[in-house]
Amino acid sequence: MEIQSEFKHIWNRALKPVKDLIRDEDTYLRWIHSIVPLSASKNVMTLGVADEFSAEWIKSNFEDIIVASLQEVSGEKFKIKYEAGHKCELPTPTPVPHQKVHSAPHKHQDNGRLSNDKCNSSYNFSNFVVGPENRIAYAAAMGMVDSRASALDANPLFIYGGPGLGKTHLIQALANKVGELRSNLKVEYLSCEDLLNQYVDSIRTNKHYNFRSRFRKVNYLLIDDIHFLSKTNNLQEEFFNTFNSLYNENNKIILTSDKRPSEIHGLESRLISRFSSGLTVEIESFGEETRLAILRKKQEAHQIKFEDEVLSFIAKNIYSDVRVLEGALFRLVVYASIDNCEMTIDLARKILGDYLEQQASRRINIEAIQKTVAEFYDLRISDITGTNRSSTIAVPRMMAMYLARTLTDKSLPEIGLGFSKNHATVLHAFRKIEKDRKKSESVNSILSQIERKLQSV
Ligand code: ADP
Ligand code: MG
Repeated sequence: MEIQSEFKHIWNRALKPVKDLIRDEDTYLRWIHSIVPLSASKNVMTLGVADEFSAEWIKSNFEDIIVASLQEVSGEKFKIKYEAGHKCELPTPTPVPHQKVHSAPHKHQDNGRLSNDKCNSSYNFSNFVVGPENRIAYAAAMGMVDSRASALDANPLFIYGGPGLGKTHLIQALANKVGELRSNLKVEYLSCEDLLNQYVDSIRTNKHYNFRSRFRKVNYLLIDDIHFLSKTNNLQEEFFNTFNSLYNENNKIILTSDKRPSEIHGLESRLISRFSSGLTVEIESFGEETRLAILRKKQEAHQIKFEDEVLSFIAKNIYSDVRVLEGALFRLVVYASIDNCEMTIDLARKILGDYLEQQASRRINIEAIQKTVAEFYDLRISDITGTNRSSTIAVPRMMAMYLARTLTDKSLPEIGLGFSKNHATVLHAFRKIEKDRKKSESVNSILSQIERKLQSV
């Protein structure tokens, strides 16, 4: 008992030097504050963390700081052990006006080094809600802020995912953070469309050299929606050279896209391989829990607050991307403020009528799956529901059955009916594709593409 409270005391005292050394509040809250000190025996301290990923991340990035701080307050050099599976409390969502440790110039009054005037200053890490669908992307982006402190070399970092899932928010949060904490570095953030326009202008005005020198001399190059690069071959060539020159100097490159590199049509294979050579992470569609967390966060910006059951109702019934969630919430706020009334689920249902209808029609059904798979493989829907056994048709058909099983709540016989097959055939198809998906990256990639198409309809 004595010993237990003693080591907790040491841990709590060590938090201050850890915090001072880390310097960044968001990072501290996310990774250190959430640690649960579990036990200490001799000179080993066991720390409870959420999962294996967190354990690895903390070990690579902060363990030396933790050990040094523990030594500072106790005189003892502890070895650290991690135990995953502790539901660690994440920082409170209420934005505390926290003190910035650095007084680096903000981008509005910057010294000209941070060329991210296209960045929205309200996109930051602390108002980015983290759930299982985006936590790796979030952690990887945070890790890019100061890669000197990170053992995971994520250069380049390539983040991809469907629309409205926070890619722009995250990449701009990173640009803002680097600008704020490391103001001596040169940061360029721009959308791929802007990059393209600048490139075209530089050619038109015969100032190609300016373009080249501008982008090859930065410490951070962040390009949003890089999939648009495939529009022009000349820019691909130029970007390839820019990429190499930055990469060779160990400057950081962060890219976002709606697809993974190998799925970007028309992208040169040498760029595909460069883009895939660091860390490629997907942001997946949000589940209900993350949608609810996002609504709670977004509500902070509004004067009017709703009961949690109203937010849960929205999260349950609107399963689109964050833009649609924000739109629905905003509409309720407007109605509640005009009518000055208390929001209830019944009222919300009425006000959001058209949103809810739209959602119902978005529900993925067997017909939509058959249509999307047929389009993907350039087949007819009748091929998908027919009996032709040639593999160019039979494989897509089995994929469609597999997707019907994984993406709808229909039973095997119901799916069979939709394909004019019996339930055993559906089960066979499901098992086969499930196995193929695990074994083959290309099958997995095709299925992911079709899933994303279906989810973004
Ligand atoms: P994308 O670039 O992936 O299409 P955006 O970054 O433009 O998506 O996000 C759309 C909106 O959703 C923005 O207002 C953004 O702040 C919000 N958003 C997306 N993901 C999150 C998140 N995890 N936490 C908070 N807001 C989010
Ligand atoms: Mg975007």
